[in-house]
Amino acid sequence: MYDVIVVGGGPAGLTAALYAARAGKDVLVLEGESTGGQINFSPLVDNYPGLPGMSGSQFAQTLTQQAVDQGVHIRPEAVTFLRTQGELVELTTEKGRYTSTALVLATGVSHRKLGLEGEDELIGAGISYCAVCDGAFYQDRPVAVVGGGDTALQEALFLSARCSHVTLIHRRDLFRGEHRLVEQLRERDNVTFLLSHRVEELLRNEDGLTGLRLADLKTAEKKELAVEGLFVAVGQEPRSELFANLVMTDDNGYFLAGEDCATSLPGVFAAGDCRVKSVRQLTTAVGDGAVAGLAASHYVDEHRS
Ligand SMILES: Cc1cc2nc3c(=O)[nH]c(=O)nc-3n(C[C@H](O)[C@H](O)[C@H](O)COP(=O)(O)OP(=O)(O)OC[C@H]3O[C@@H](n4cnc5c(N)ncnc54)[C@H](O)[C@@H]3O)c2cc1C
Repeated sequence: MYDVIVVGGGPAGLTAALYAARAGKDVLVLEGESTGGQINFSPLVDNYPGLPGMSGSQFAQTLTQQAVDQGVHIRPEAVTFLRTQGELVELTTEKGRYTSTALVLATGVSHRKLGLEGEDELIGAGISYCAVCDGAFYQDRPVAVVGGGDTALQEALFLSARCSHVTLIHRRDLFRGEHRLVEQLRERDNVTFLLSHRVEELLRNEDGLTGLRLADLKTAEKKELAVEGLFVAVGQEPRSELFANLVMTDDNGYFLAGEDCATSLPGVFAAGDCRVKSVRQLTTAVGDGAVAGLAASHYVDEHRS
């Protein structure tokens, strides 16, 4: 039995745990993969205010240690089931059952991948899922963006302001994203559209990505495109499915919680990338974590039997 359980030991979850522990609460973090979450995949984080130039794994390790030093318990277990038990919540993992008065859901998102050979190994060496995070590493270099929705269009716009050339690759012959964004892209001299094309192969040398092998889906013609970066924007999914029976989500599966991080279920808070929000970054994740950790602590003070 804990005061606060946090599901997910990424930046949002660890920050929530840190704040709740510092508010005197007995806190457990359940993390199914590795603490630090998605930021572990980033070789260089240059946009975290006050700490430029750190690696993602360095950030993850420091934050994990900081939480442990404040008395947070961390168990490497994935949560498989959530239910309520009167005013308490009960979580099941593959190893046991845990109950708490308050719960913070900080389960993040998973980025859809292209499923190509070498994709995972090239993350940080040519493959990225976030232009705001990694675009600066491709200053004056040629890149491609794959995807056809608003995210892909926005990433292409963002990158066209710093990269030498941006090729936007989409498997359909029309973009799903906003027309206004497509028009803005058409006005940029350094943007090329490759519609009805699919990336078939990632070309690489020992340093990383060097290009793409593409297929024209109308003519079946194959071609190679030399790029140093590929930004994959084919969608992301909140990791909320396990909890959506009890906690309300929007149509895309993001937990419905506002700036106060409170969800539809009393005593349950959602923090970080898994909640409805417009900017998904480290700064917003840790901001949510602080709010959710303190809100969960207040809830415990009011409801502890
Ligand atoms: C390659 C890459 C580079 C990035 N670079 C930057 C950058 O430079 N700057 C920046 O600001 N942002 C960057 N980001 C974005 C940033 O990493 C995220 O916004 C941030 O990690 C979100 O934190 P979070 O805690 O909400 O979610 P996550 O980091 O996704 O953490 C969620 C955690 O929950 C765990 N989890 C999920 N379900 C369960 C379950 N059922 N049981 C137990 N555990 C569970 C997951 O294993 C994961 O560890 C980058 C992202 C990627 C992928």
